[in-house]
Amino acid sequence: MDCIFCKIANGEIPSNKVYEDDKILAFYDLEPQAPVHVLVIPKEHICCADALNSENSAVVGYIFSKIPEITAKLGLTNGYRIVNNCKEDGGQTVFHLHFHILGGKKLNVNMA
Ligand code: AMP
Ligand code: ZN
Repeated sequence: MDCIFCKIANGEIPSNKVYEDDKILAFYDLEPQAPVHVLVIPKEHICCADALNSENSAVVGYIFSKIPEITAKLGLTNGYRIVNNCKEDGGQTVFHLHFHILGGKKLNVNMA
């Protein structure tokens, strides 16, 4: 499958890693939208939030269980935002489930 985040997960494409274990990977976004901008992905290919179901969604809870550790490592002690863009109207451009972690400043509150 020609998926850029699968290739990052398996090491075919390099990334600037923040956290990695057997299930998930966190790495810096190439085009940061905030002073700190990291993506967290499951290593398993799931195209988007809209493809989650009772069989494959445990990894989402796992990702969220690791976010405090990842954000602590990033120094985001004053808070951060977690974003998921889903499919075309949500602005998704890479079709491998990922959560953006944005922080390092007081973010604006415009959500749409
Ligand atoms: P989304 O628009 O939610 O699908 O987000 C995709 C994100 O992936 C964008 O913020 C891109 O800057 C980022 N991105 C694309 N390719 C890479 C890459 N090779 N390494 C790191 N980030 C990437
Ligand atoms: Zn993938």
